[in-house]
Amino acid sequence: MFIDQPFQTTLRSKIPFEDIGLHSGRYVRAVIRPAPANTGIIFRRIDVEESRQTVPAHAEYATAARLCTRIQNDSGVGLETVEHFMAAFAGMGVDNAIVDIDASEAPILDGSSKPLVDAINRVGLTILTLRRRYFVVTRTLQVKLSCGAWARIEPSDKLEIDIEIDFEDVAIGRQNYLYRHGNGKFEAELASARTFCQMRDVEFMQNAGLALGGSLNNAVVVENGVVLNEDGLRMENEFARHKALDCLGDLYLLGMQVKGKLTSFRPGHALSTKLVQTLWRDPMAYQIVEDNLPITVSEGYTLPEVAAAAAV
Ligand SMILES: [Zn+2]
Repeated sequence: MFIDQPFQTTLRSKIPFEDIGLHSGRYVRAVIRPAPANTGIIFRRIDVEESRQTVPAHAEYATAARLCTRIQNDSGVGLETVEHFMAAFAGMGVDNAIVDIDASEAPILDGSSKPLVDAINRVGLTILTLRRRYFVVTRTLQVKLSCGAWARIEPSDKLEIDIEIDFEDVAIGRQNYLYRHGNGKFEAELASARTFCQMRDVEFMQNAGLALGGSLNNAVVVENGVVLNEDGLRMENEFARHKALDCLGDLYLLGMQVKGKLTSFRPGHALSTKLVQTLWRDPMAYQIVEDNLPITVSEGYTLPEVAAAAAV
């Protein structure tokens, strides 16, 4: 397996996807391609001219978005709803990949990371010759939003995500989940958990031009204490597990596997984007480490190059 081993990975071959975008409701085509070591995760908007296509999936390029994670490059070209792709890459130990997408939003698939995990398993990963670098949290840091949601990250030798959600609808209610990252854990515990919403929010979102592609095929919808999806939930605590999946994907915007413990109350993308950006911009709060030796920026760590990384 590809989490608890020291070398970088990429896919053995490319993976095509086709599906609608959750918020736009438009049909989207995506291809995940192998990439060389130290590329990180890069998205390319292949529907715009070549010089502006590349959007690195990194905290430095994350921007404010409603109900999803959005990244945007220096030319103003952005991409929304990357979080379930990022969670699949983090969870499966994919260090390097280039994702071509022909729209401003990633395809929603079934609302979870399961189709991505299945496809990654189908093609397999290859281990590259360069060693992994880890983003090691060295100091506790906390962010909060005015709604009362908060997130804290603190030093730990393993990645842990400990979250609590609290929704008015009793079909969701108050749930906790503690995820400990490791070989096979993502696939077994989080990958299948779907995104969700309350029925009364659907009309509100659609009036705002959001969730136009949303349906019971790509989200769990609850109303007055009842799950409206015919087959019910896929697993116990599916809602909290999905939030943990989202947090894992957002943490991967730090550009590599993270060692630290995230604790969050009412997590969401605005909160976790704020956390990763605050963390990234505070060099006293982390070290980038290879073989237990810290690496400084001057010794070779750079952000993903916007124009770099031809697919292999
Ligand atoms: Zn999500």
